[in-house]
Amino acid sequence: MTATILRGATVVTRLDPVEVVAADVVVDGDRVAMTGPSVPAGPGATVIDCRGGLVIPGNVDAHTHAYSALARGMPYELAPPRTFVEILRRVWWRLDRALDEASIRASARVAGMEALLAGTTTLIDHHASPHAIDGALDILAEELGRLGVRTVLAYEVSDRDGPEHARAGIEENRRFLGRVAAGALPLSRGLVGAHASFTLSDATLEACVDLAHASGRSLHVHVAEDAADQRAAEAEHGVRVLERLARAGALEPTPLLAHGVHLDRAEAALFRASGATLVHNPRSNMNNAVGRAPIGLLGPRVALGTDGIGADMFEESRTGYLRNLEERATAVGSATGDPLPPGPAWPLARLAAGARLVGELFEEPSLGRIEPGAPADLVVLDYPAPTPVTAATLPAHWTFGLSARAVRHVIVAGRIVVRDRRLTAADQDEIAAEARLAATRLWDRLAEIAEHPYALDEVPVG
Ligand SMILES: [Zn+2]
Repeated sequence: MTATILRGATVVTRLDPVEVVAADVVVDGDRVAMTGPSVPAGPGATVIDCRGGLVIPGNVDAHTHAYSALARGMPYELAPPRTFVEILRRVWWRLDRALDEASIRASARVAGMEALLAGTTTLIDHHASPHAIDGALDILAEELGRLGVRTVLAYEVSDRDGPEHARAGIEENRRFLGRVAAGALPLSRGLVGAHASFTLSDATLEACVDLAHASGRSLHVHVAEDAADQRAAEAEHGVRVLERLARAGALEPTPLLAHGVHLDRAEAALFRASGATLVHNPRSNMNNAVGRAPIGLLGPRVALGTDGIGADMFEESRTGYLRNLEERATAVGSATGDPLPPGPAWPLARLAAGARLVGELFEEPSLGRIEPGAPADLVVLDYPAPTPVTAATLPAHWTFGLSARAVRHVIVAGRIVVRDRRLTAADQDEIAAEARLAATRLWDRLAEIAEHPYALDEVPVG
């Protein structure tokens, strides 16, 4: 691979704290080789004119479900769901049982395409396909890797489809972690996926924790997304969700906890004292009307995810910021105990937290920064800034000016994966056409699948 020089851009070298310089960026192999003013082009170097643009670290979507890519607009003929658990039983736990190898593949290609075109270079995915478990993570790694996406993958272990499926899910995580450990997939890492406390028996949770500890990895698990998770933990285990996970050893060493909407103050303290990262998914939480995580109580290890609603982190960070700002200025915010509205740098710090986590998983501590020696995951934006771009003003540009529409080129591990708004490794019109075909087949199968029979013995509310 010859060197590539990104010439003449304004470079955001890091997001927390924000640093902005005017410089050329030299990418050599899979790394940033240097940044500096007017770097001379050596023989064979490719020069990309970035004058008038911004170069930023690639965005990280820290919790998503690529398998939901073909769900957009799918028919729904059951009675409207009244609770979060009914949304799962009538929508997502029907869709995941309809998935087969072809639809997982098509979903992965769409998810990867949409991520890269939005400037998202890493996806941390949580996958479920109860009727196509064995090898599912390989399909994701293969398709996303082919497009050039960096990935952290996990299979969603759950007892909701019976003990055989739970065992198969654990085996899929074990198998995939083995492949990663053998060095077979340089752009992928694994975590031990687990659905959520309320669909995990003690034995299954213990098996997940054992696998995580034996493989030197951690859990990726949904936590208190809805109050039902807390009610079930209290009714069946006599403790709240995070306490249950802590007692099972699941908060060691550095798990990824999605949502945390219904964590209370004691759990927030338990979380802060652990090595866990929480992924806040504001648009998904709004879509499911489950509430908002008490982010003001959770400390700095809070990243952002889309939970399957595309992978546009400009949109996710903007929505999360504005929603938090509005709620915390009202009685709703004070009821959650959040002390202050988030400052304008909040979305950028959350994205940096996601990149830091990925850096830990890849043992690349400088991932998410544009500096010599860092993995070259970066995005070139067309952005004719109407006001000066500095470290002080970048947060305002991010919230009020930038969007995925500005993404022009994307580089992952030194490879140009989007050039002039087009994927370099695949034809994006073909991916979309194949996906539409796969979607109609998936939807036909889905029509034959009944509401999931899972029953939650909930303590009546009120
Ligand atoms: Zn999720």
